[in-house]
Amino acid sequence: MAKKVLIVDDQLGIRVLLQEVLSQEGYETFAAANGQEALAVAVRERPDLVLLDMKIPGMDGLEILRCIRKADAAAKVIMMTAYGELDLIQEAMELGAIAYFTKPFDIDELRMAVHAQLMS
Ligand SMILES: [Mg+2]
Repeated sequence: MAKKVLIVDDQLGIRVLLQEVLSQEGYETFAAANGQEALAVAVRERPDLVLLDMKIPGMDGLEILRCIRKADAAAKVIMMTAYGELDLIQEAMELGAIAYFTKPFDIDELRMAVHAQLMS
């Protein structure tokens, strides 16, 4: 069965890009634009991996991360951040995020990181 990847970002362009690239890799992808949508998908689909934007209006990435880990402790979470958000990144890693990418990221690096995490 295809591994499930949930993409959470308020920017449509990022959601579309990541869904396209990761679908081509054979993953089943889901996208959410905000925390509420993200949690609904996390509970319903139990994604193997979540790509989670840090800066999202309303519930921010850290809050979403906390809720996702409560709802689905097994989900692997990779954060997507802006340059210079070291405090937030540190906090995310303490909350169990396994990696982070700084925007603008190299799509191939991200694709390979997702692959590596889903192999193990
Ligand atoms: Mg954002």
